[in-house]
Amino acid sequence: MLGQMMEMPLTIGSLIEHAERYHAKTEIVSVETSGARTMSNWGTVGANARRLASALRKLGITDGERCATIAWNNRRHLEIYFGVSGGGMVCHTINPRLAPEQLVFVADDAQDQVVFFEQTFLPLVAKIQSQLKTVKHFVLMGPRDDDAADLIGGLKFYDELIETGDAEATWPKVDERAASSLCYTSGTTGNPKGVLYSHRSTLMHTLVGNQPDGIAISAQDTVLPVVPMFHVNAWGVPYIAAANGCKLVLPGPNLDGESILKLIDETETTLALGVPTIWMNLLAALEASDSKLPSLTRTVVGGAPLPPSMIPKFAAYGVELLHAWGMTETSPVATLNQFLQRHAVLSDDEKTELRTGQGRPMFGVELRLLDEAGELLPHDGKTQGDLQVRGHWVVKRYFGKDADALTDDGWFDTGDVSTIDEDGYMVIRDRSKDIIKSGGEWISTVELENIAIAHPQVANAAAIAARHEKWDERPIVIAVKTPDANLSETELRAFYDGKIPSWQTPDAVIFVDALPMGATGKIQKNELRKLFGAHLITGEDNNA
Ligand code: AMP
Repeated sequence: MLGQMMEMPLTIGSLIEHAERYHAKTEIVSVETSGARTMSNWGTVGANARRLASALRKLGITDGERCATIAWNNRRHLEIYFGVSGGGMVCHTINPRLAPEQLVFVADDAQDQVVFFEQTFLPLVAKIQSQLKTVKHFVLMGPRDDDAADLIGGLKFYDELIETGDAEATWPKVDERAASSLCYTSGTTGNPKGVLYSHRSTLMHTLVGNQPDGIAISAQDTVLPVVPMFHVNAWGVPYIAAANGCKLVLPGPNLDGESILKLIDETETTLALGVPTIWMNLLAALEASDSKLPSLTRTVVGGAPLPPSMIPKFAAYGVELLHAWGMTETSPVATLNQFLQRHAVLSDDEKTELRTGQGRPMFGVELRLLDEAGELLPHDGKTQGDLQVRGHWVVKRYFGKDADALTDDGWFDTGDVSTIDEDGYMVIRDRSKDIIKSGGEWISTVELENIAIAHPQVANAAAIAARHEKWDERPIVIAVKTPDANLSETELRAFYDGKIPSWQTPDAVIFVDALPMGATGKIQKNELRKLFGAHLITGEDNNA
């Protein structure tokens, strides 16, 4: 016998319809590409998104066709998110920092029909426009600009385009299993691969990801997604924000510590989300300012390991750091570090220790560990293995591929090496391609980095495997000093004494001015291995 309840499709159109109807007056603060700050609200975002959907239909864009964005986090990008997906088309967010040939590759792979782009990227788009063979319409995200029109034939302007849409348009009926958005993996090895989300997977992620033990955004929050809207849909925040009607602050192009600090204080942001480097830069700006970060209560940190030394530093400002883990392939949030009731009795140090891990899976996600032979490993908090995941918002097959990306029994192999304890708390030990294999023993680069970053004279650090004649690989650390530091290689190596077994101590420390950073805030260790991988064999580096 079937249940007898209503069945309504889980669609992105229904999210923005809710926000427009019930949270119309709630503000959206947007930092424009020019740096100017504008105010919008959910009512305007909803109305413009409906107009955009209708305008795209008038241009001949049909169900499931891809419309790309090359854009910062701002109000027009938010309208495009909902207008394109809500209207039954697919929003393909392109990472603007991709090398031009990779950008052309992803636009071609996605068969993009429309490209919405920001003024910042006008020179880039003008340069590659003739290679973007499938694109029928280029749309500059702003008002008419005659100079830009001279560079790209037939260029359209966002503010004019939405005027051509029907103001009375309503959201079309869309199958909840239909594709809604497309995001490519960072592609550090080989070409990026597309992950094609559905309305259903997005709504499941929205509903489950925002439980009290999830991101927990409420209508009383002011939320700042520093995480880019081109990085796994800003971790799903735009959708969660629409479902819950919170105030949103979209930070535009300037993501340095000073700009973010000013924005948080002036907009009274309560929750911010981003990768660890954002918070490192914010801390440096904070320490040089008089601000006490009065409004901010919590930040969600993910995308790369959270350095434990940051936790007490933020706690001194009354800010809780919530560590989360996920990937493009998991929409992205899969685990989040929230306590259990019995953790209330833990000391502050024990709580900090627990917080450094990536947390436990939320309902709808399952994790398991395997050894190299494919045998299941125990969840005892000690045994480390290859992390596999499955769940309602986990990829099954990459876009355009013929075969599923899963194991024979239906799990996705993350490429991460981790431990899981009996409560499900997971700790990422490393990416399997980064872990250091020294004479048959494994050394976690994350652990070596956390120790280096805890040194007061170290601003940032990365550990990599350097080739070694006897041990195959040995750890070396590439570190950036704080501005006034007076720190030697010997002193930093000595800082490891007693913190890890002595054979894991890095063989060398190399100080550099900056670490190579990808557009989604991950240190590019493959670049560091190219530069310094031969350091222990030849003593020579490739960056001379
Ligand atoms: P991406 O698909 O670009 O978001 O990258 C996903 C990868 O980032 C994961 O497989 C992890 O290796 C890494 N990652 C994400 N979150 C964390 C975290 N909290 N701690 C450590 N690594 C993380």
